[in-house]
Amino acid sequence: MIDARTELYGIIGNPVRHSLSPLIHNTAFKRMGLNALYLAFEVEDLEEAIHGIRALGIRGVSVTIPFKTEVVPFLDEVEEAAGKIKAVNTILNRGGRMIGYNTDWHGAIEALEEKIDLRGKKVLLLGAGGAARAIGFGLRERGSLVIISNRSGDKAHHLAEELGFVSWPWSLRGDLQPEVIINATSIGMYPYDTEGPLPKEVLKEGMTVMDIVYWPLRTKLLREAEEKGCLTINGLEMLTRQGAGQLQIWTGRRPDLGKIKEDLYRALVRTEVSKEGSYDRD
Ligand code: NAP
Repeated sequence: MIDARTELYGIIGNPVRHSLSPLIHNTAFKRMGLNALYLAFEVEDLEEAIHGIRALGIRGVSVTIPFKTEVVPFLDEVEEAAGKIKAVNTILNRGGRMIGYNTDWHGAIEALEEKIDLRGKKVLLLGAGGAARAIGFGLRERGSLVIISNRSGDKAHHLAEELGFVSWPWSLRGDLQPEVIINATSIGMYPYDTEGPLPKEVLKEGMTVMDIVYWPLRTKLLREAEEKGCLTINGLEMLTRQGAGQLQIWTGRRPDLGKIKEDLYRALVRTEVSKEGSYDRD
């Protein structure tokens, strides 16, 4: 029940109206028996929004596109990993002090490590945007050997240089024989779900293929990877874990991952069937 003691959380981004985060967090709060509510705030002025969060005592917020990097200077403290990634997707309001975290990297790495050992693995990381930055940081932490390929080659080059990896021309991305492929671009996301980031011929039995795009759940890349006998990991695995990481930071308690996944799966399948809604990027 919402009452005078209800604690408020939310997401700030733009656009944000179709985010899945309210679903993740409100259902988790309910299951955890917490008197808390999570809302979506479509923000125009980021600095004012941070003042508002502090002034109103909002307990925590998720941060999404386009503010993950932009928000850093407005915070009082940034946890070590988020500082290195230079992006924050979670803010904890600790008695008026705004503390920034990044749960994206851990969400992706946990999802991978549930299936494979990352140490020494040859990984092709497609993309050099915000999500690729976070995942690249995690792969470096785990000692993977990473090649980054991105449509805008200069971005791949800079990210690879920063993380101590190598970059590779986008036009030649099909020439490599990695053990793990991670799609961290938005290629394949609805309504462009007939596209994939790689020619099918690159996929070989025994490879691990992770797509962080979660709408549709079975992207073209994952469908083709399954056909070729690859081990596949869908975007829900990272999404669930980054959300669980946020809940843990805010409440000190680890929520039930399986239940969050079930809720998201149901919502995504419903949307895929109706094709009426659209989800933005968390
Ligand atoms: P971003 O910072 O905007 O980066 C987008 C990336 O996709 C860039 O590397 C961009 O290349 C590439 N790209 C976009 N359209 C392309 C095209 N037509 N051809 C080739 N490359 C293209 O976005 P982001 O935050 O990294 O998110 C990327 C994707 O990951 C989104 O679909 C988002 O929904 C998903 N995501 C999922 C999770 C999860 O938990 N599962 C978490 C975060 C993000 P250029 O640099 O050349 O533009």
